[in-house]
Amino acid sequence: MRNLLLLILAIIFYYFIRRLLLDTSEKRDKNHSATTIEDEMVKDPLCNIYILKSEAVKRSVRGKRYYFCSSECAKKFADNRSPN
Ligand SMILES: [Zn+2]
Repeated sequence: MRNLLLLILAIIFYYFIRRLLLDTSEKRDKNHSATTIEDEMVKDPLCNIYILKSEAVKRSVRGKRYYFCSSECAKKFADNRSPN
């Protein structure tokens, strides 16, 4: 009788753990899709090519955020936009 109770507890515990594991894997999938959304294409305003946001050189010029294919492009763009 005692063994049966332990077995039932073990089964309940097994399902509980399984549910927990499934929940975390679901959350991981959601996080994964969030990172793929983050990896969108952005346009380099200087040479007009599209690059991945995660690989782009980010630069703020006069409070606006721009994305460049390289740091050279970012520098040239900032130089063009400077008042002098
Ligand atoms: Zn460029």
